[in-house]
Amino acid sequence: MIWIVLLAVTTIIALIWGWRGQRNLRRELAYLRNRPVVAPPPPADPFNQLFRTLSAALDAGVIVVNDGRTIRYCNDVAAKLFGVSASAVLNHSVITLVRDYQADTMIEQSIRRRDPQQVTLQPVLSNRTIRIWCEPMPESGALILARDLTQLSLLERARRDLVANVSHELRTPLASIKLLVETLATQPPPELAQRMLGQVDTELDAVMQLVDELHELSQIESGRTALQLQPTAVSTIVERAHDRIQPQAKRKDLRVVVTIAPDLPEVYVDRDRISQVLLNLLHNAVKWTDAGGTITIEAGLRSRAELGHHLSRMLEPSNRWVTMAIHDTGAGIPAEAIPRIFERFYKVDRARTRGVGGTGLGLAIVKHLVEGHGGVVWVASSEGRGSNFTVALPVVEDE
Ligand code: ADP
Repeated sequence: MIWIVLLAVTTIIALIWGWRGQRNLRRELAYLRNRPVVAPPPPADPFNQLFRTLSAALDAGVIVVNDGRTIRYCNDVAAKLFGVSASAVLNHSVITLVRDYQADTMIEQSIRRRDPQQVTLQPVLSNRTIRIWCEPMPESGALILARDLTQLSLLERARRDLVANVSHELRTPLASIKLLVETLATQPPPELAQRMLGQVDTELDAVMQLVDELHELSQIESGRTALQLQPTAVSTIVERAHDRIQPQAKRKDLRVVVTIAPDLPEVYVDRDRISQVLLNLLHNAVKWTDAGGTITIEAGLRSRAELGHHLSRMLEPSNRWVTMAIHDTGAGIPAEAIPRIFERFYKVDRARTRGVGGTGLGLAIVKHLVEGHGGVVWVASSEGRGSNFTVALPVVEDE
C-alpha cells in the first residue's frame, strides 16, 4: 500500500515538474521570438564631435585624405569652394574635388615626404584665387586646408595700382620742378627767373591738388566723412554751383544756362558735399568745352520708372527722384571709355589730358559722394558732340 502511495506521489511530482519545465520552455521561446532586434554597433567614427564642430565653424575648407589621397572627410566650405557636394566626393580621390593636377601632385608629394606644403590655384573657369595647404598627419593621411583668397588678391592688386598711379601722377610735376630749380640755380635773367617761379608754383599746385584729392577720397571711402544731411531746396544747390562756376565759364567765353523745374521737392543732402559734386562736374564741363560752347544745368523730377535701368541695382525704394543734369557741348567721351570713367585715376586719353591738368580722381569722388547719399550718377556722351552727366537723388517722402 505504501508503495502504491509513494509511486502515486512520485508520479504527481514528476508530472508537475514536467509541466512547469514545459511552461518555462514555452515562455523562453516566446521571449526569443518577440525580443527586439538589436542593430550591430556602428563602425567607429574616426572624426570625433570636436573635430566636426571645429571644422564646421571654420571659415576654411577642411579635407582629410588617406595616404592614397582618398577623401575621408570634406566640410561644406571646401565643397562650396570647389562647387561640388560634400557627399559626392567622399571616398573619391582628392583630384575629383580640386580638379587641378598641380594641387594633386603637391598633396601626393606632401604625404609621401611627410612634409607640409602649399600651392595657390587660379581656376580659369571660376576666376578665383584659392590657396591649399597640405599638412601630413603623424600616422597616415593628411589634413588639407583650402581658403578663398580672391578678395584679398583683388585688394592687393588695387593697392599696387594705387601706388603705381600715385607715383606716375607725382613724377611729372616733380620732374618739372626739379628741372626748373636746377635752371634757376644758374641765375638766369630776372624776367626769365620770374616766369620759371610761376611755373614752379603751377606744378606745386598740381601736386597739392593730387594729395588733397587722394586724402579726400580715402576719407570718403573709409566712411570717416559723416554726411550732415538736412532738407535742402534743389534751387539753392544749383544756384550756388552756378555762381561759383560763372567766372571760369566767362573767362573761357562759355554760356551757362540754368533750368529748374517748378515745385521741386526738397532733397535730404549734405549741402556742401552735393555742391562739391556739381562743381566737380561743372569744372569738367568747362575744361572740356571749347570757347563759344554752352553748359546747361537742368534740375527736374522723375519717377522710378523713368530712370529705368539706372536704378536697377539700387535698393532705394523711393518712387520720386530729383535729377540734376550737367550738359556740355564739348569734346565728349568715346564709347569705350564710358564704363571706366568713374574709376580712380582713369583719364580718357593721357595725350588729350596733357596740358589740361587733372588727376583723374574728380569723378571717383563724385560717384562716392552721390552713392553715399543713396543716389546714382551716370553719363551719356558722344565724342565730339558733348556729354551729359546726371545725378539722381531719392526724394524722402513724408510718412
Ligand atoms: P580729372 O581730374 O582728370 O578731370 P575726372 O575723374 O574728373 O578727372 O575725369 C576723368 C576723365 O574723364 C577726364 O580725364 C576726361 O578725360 C574725362 N571727362 C570728364 N568729364 C568730361 C566732360 N565733361 N567732357 C569730356 N570728357 C570728360
